[in-house]
Amino acid sequence: MRAVVCRHEKLTVEDRPEVPLGPGQVRLEVLRCGICGSDLHARTGMDDWADLGAKIGYARLARQGDGLVFGHEFSGAVAEYGPKCKQELPTGTPVVAVPIIRNGGDVDPIGLSPHADGAYAEQVIVQEPMMMEVPNGLPADVAAMTEPMAVAWHAVRRGEVKKKDVAIVIGCGPVGLGVILALKARGVATVVASDFSPGRRALATRCGADVVLDPAVGSPFEGAERWGHLTSSRDAFELLMGTREKLGRLPVGWWHLWRLGEKLGAMPKRPVIFECVGVPGIIESIVDAAPIMSRVVVVGVCVGTDHFTPFMAINKEIDLRFVLAYTPLEFRDTLHLLAEGKMDPRPMVTSTVGLDGVADAFTALGDPEAQAKILVDPRLAASA
Ligand SMILES: [Zn+2]
Repeated sequence: MRAVVCRHEKLTVEDRPEVPLGPGQVRLEVLRCGICGSDLHARTGMDDWADLGAKIGYARLARQGDGLVFGHEFSGAVAEYGPKCKQELPTGTPVVAVPIIRNGGDVDPIGLSPHADGAYAEQVIVQEPMMMEVPNGLPADVAAMTEPMAVAWHAVRRGEVKKKDVAIVIGCGPVGLGVILALKARGVATVVASDFSPGRRALATRCGADVVLDPAVGSPFEGAERWGHLTSSRDAFELLMGTREKLGRLPVGWWHLWRLGEKLGAMPKRPVIFECVGVPGIIESIVDAAPIMSRVVVVGVCVGTDHFTPFMAINKEIDLRFVLAYTPLEFRDTLHLLAEGKMDPRPMVTSTVGLDGVADAFTALGDPEAQAKILVDPRLAASA
């Protein structure tokens, strides 16, 4: 089987022996696999990832010399069942899968561990309960976007964004674009998107962002007053004092009214901000500029050490949330949103390459103007 192997930062196409299937495992013929930003970072930073992974109790992430096959954003067709499978789907059925498999006492992430080769390959092994049939004749390239879109769907759910909230997306790479699509699929009326790259801003518009801006020209937090967001401590003090004064003019005890207001969910308006950049300093820049009581959802993966000033976050009562991946249910729901056309990630798919084109695709993805999401089609002979 041909696969793209990453060893000491080099990506080469190699012939790999077929790995025998374990209990409950299914071999898929890979139809498409997305190149994830995390793969780009892992190519050079694998050992750091492995060290950090070990710190949180998972010591089986790949290291530089391991000869890893990347690829966790895939769609495929059922090719062969291992022992102890239910075999509910006939061979050839198009499927996607949550990219984790069981190896004895361990559960390994597909495409990030040498114990679970990924889908930059002709075949990939998945775990049957994590596999889902692709509905509605959804094309393989869109189905392969289930995984990254599930990340976005989870982030938006964790952000608890209401339809009337203003959502601000910082960074319009594939993660930010996915978040924009997920926000619009949830019916959020106002989505503001910010990116330095004109190409990425154009994609943000195509993905449904309502306001798209260049942070070099204007801050995404500028004009927050027009949405009723509190931009200074002075505003917050005024709101507290003013509300208390107003309630004091009514014939009922102010504390009853205040408590009732809390029960009904009355609270100052604030945006939900999605950090989709993942470089040191970005959290601090958001905390410094965000309106009072903003909720900040950190989706961008920053592996390095970062710092921010708690005084600012405390005085604004910033609600900082970190998100990781998705549940199998969120994965399934995302697949069905794609199949029903409620999220259309096609604008962000900028090209498709064969296995031989993966190394060049990694380089090409360094240019935000030209590329956003590149898919691998193992049956394509040459790169597109
Ligand atoms: Zn990914």
